[in-house]
Amino acid sequence: MQSYPKSRLIRIDAWLAVLAWVLLLLFMTGVVLSWTSFELQGKRVLAWAIGALLLVVVLRLPVTLGHRCPVCQKRPTVQGFAPIHNLAKYDKGLDGWSRVVWNVFKNRPFRCIHCGEQFSAE
Ligand SMILES: [Zn+2]
Repeated sequence: MQSYPKSRLIRIDAWLAVLAWVLLLLFMTGVVLSWTSFELQGKRVLAWAIGALLLVVVLRLPVTLGHRCPVCQKRPTVQGFAPIHNLAKYDKGLDGWSRVVWNVFKNRPFRCIHCGEQFSAE
């Protein structure tokens, strides 16, 4: 297993993706709660959550595009429409780029979804 060349960048990428997931969950929870009572305070929380989510997504874009797999020169956290490599498939819920993000976030080795090469992001 080799170490990922831009390990700091992919770790920031993973942290921003997880933060976006949390904000999305907060937003969706706010939407569900607003079905029961939608007062002014609830609208502010929803607006804050969606604004923060959009900000994180915009901030993540250059970080995601700023690193590539040294073996295949593709981006491990950008999946596209091509099928992922067989070695990068998992059967525990998360799959594809989200599995890469979760493994990097948890300081575990990850596999490039395009070529299947395993890396460490430490
Ligand atoms: Zn690769």
